[in-house]
Amino acid sequence: MSFDSFGLHPDLMRAIAEVGYTTPTPIQAQAIPVIVGGGDVMGAAQTGTGKTAAFTLPILQRLMPHANTSASPARHPVRALMLAPTRELADQIAQNVGQYAKYVPLRSTVVFGGVDMNPQTAALRSGVEILIATPGRLLDHVQQKTVSLGSVSVLVLDEADRMLDMGFLPDLQRIVNLLPKARQSLLFSATFSPEIRKLAKTFLNDTPTVIEVAARNATAENVTQIVYTVDRAEAKRAAVAHLVKSLGLKQVIVFTNTKIGASRLARELQREGIPADAIHGDKSQGERLATLEKFKKGEVEVMVATDVAARGLDIAELPAVINYDLPYAPEDYVHRIGRTGRAGASGTAMSLMTPEDQRLLTDIEKLVKKTIVREALVVSGSSNRGERSGSGGERRGERRSDTRGDRGWKEPERSSSRASPYATLATPKSAVPADPIFSQPYQSKAVPSEESSAAPSPGTTTASPRASVRAGLSSIRRAPKSVPAILGGKPKSST
Ligand code: AMP
Repeated sequence: MSFDSFGLHPDLMRAIAEVGYTTPTPIQAQAIPVIVGGGDVMGAAQTGTGKTAAFTLPILQRLMPHANTSASPARHPVRALMLAPTRELADQIAQNVGQYAKYVPLRSTVVFGGVDMNPQTAALRSGVEILIATPGRLLDHVQQKTVSLGSVSVLVLDEADRMLDMGFLPDLQRIVNLLPKARQSLLFSATFSPEIRKLAKTFLNDTPTVIEVAARNATAENVTQIVYTVDRAEAKRAAVAHLVKSLGLKQVIVFTNTKIGASRLARELQREGIPADAIHGDKSQGERLATLEKFKKGEVEVMVATDVAARGLDIAELPAVINYDLPYAPEDYVHRIGRTGRAGASGTAMSLMTPEDQRLLTDIEKLVKKTIVREALVVSGSSNRGERSGSGGERRGERRSDTRGDRGWKEPERSSSRASPYATLATPKSAVPADPIFSQPYQSKAVPSEESSAAPSPGTTTASPRASVRAGLSSIRRAPKSVPAILGGKPKSST
């Protein structure tokens, strides 16, 4: 299939050719004809599937009759409203819209919180057909009467699950009440939870076309996953440094569960000589964008991030992510590892866990319906003993490790025996039966009824986890440089 089959306007086709897309992704193949035809869509698609173009291209196509070059703001009312949960996701959508609309006289702008309203107000006053917004800031503009939503004919709710998580439901309801009833509505969500279904019933027409291109809550097939077990939390920092150095990772996101943890880990990695920086909800927008820019340029090789960054981040072919902490919400695991293996590229997701994290891992495995390969990493050397000793052990251990570089680690080796505290071994434990759902992430299928997901039983692995990680990382050293990348923004809830 090619983009020709959609009958898109030549000016859109020109833009598509310019960005280098030749074949529609599965969600594009399914959604574009429906949206061009005016239908409502409820789409389940992970980030990285090309969903932004899947809704933007047909919306532009539908708005083509309104495209005009008049200078009069009245000739450019808001006709398409795209809502996103975070400022950076909104910004990313806006960049995509700008690319795809490059050759058509349809205007777009983006509004989100945390920055001066005045330039946004000026852009809104001059008139835009396509408005991309986070809900809170949009309502600020509505209140200030700088925008009218009375001509909106298409509404997009992107990452609707995240919007609900972040408590945006009342804002969404207020916004939707301002829109004409006769409109097209498109809802995209990584998962179809019962809450999302309820939201869809409220905001979409009675018969939306349901499109699901990824197995629900399944992680991308082309992401190699591995869990490294460490015996205590204090060993994780050295474990990250070890993985980054020994695997030669030059572009990796490390996820932590807390903002403090992110900042501290970034500082510690810097002391180990690793170019690292942190990005989380306490950083200003300017700081976050600056860090992201450095990450894209390769000046920062390890970006330590909270879940704020798990959404809306688009870095083409990011080769690896590391979960320093396993996330509390298993869905976040799916989003985090979705930062790698995007748009068909292969990637590696490594997670560190202590024995106390077992419950979190069990929840994740239930969700993804897969037993994730475990390999033990055990710290050797005096610094780790230092970390274990006494109440101030962690600080002392950190200081000592500042000068030891990577020497406290040995390459993990295979062993059938259980790890002793100061030995190093890798213990593959379980065979993972092929999961037909998991292994077919891009297959279209009707939305299943709520499923009961049984926990996978621990078995034994067949493949060598270490080998598979290395295979998955084979592209690291040729990670592309030019990447559109945007980080998730500051949610209402703190991270
Ligand atoms: P999204 O899921 O919208 O965040 O898109 C993920 C990435 O896929 C972005 O970098 C897009 O530029 C890219 N992309 C979208 N559609 C296509 C396509 N048809 N062919 C190749 N890359 C695409």
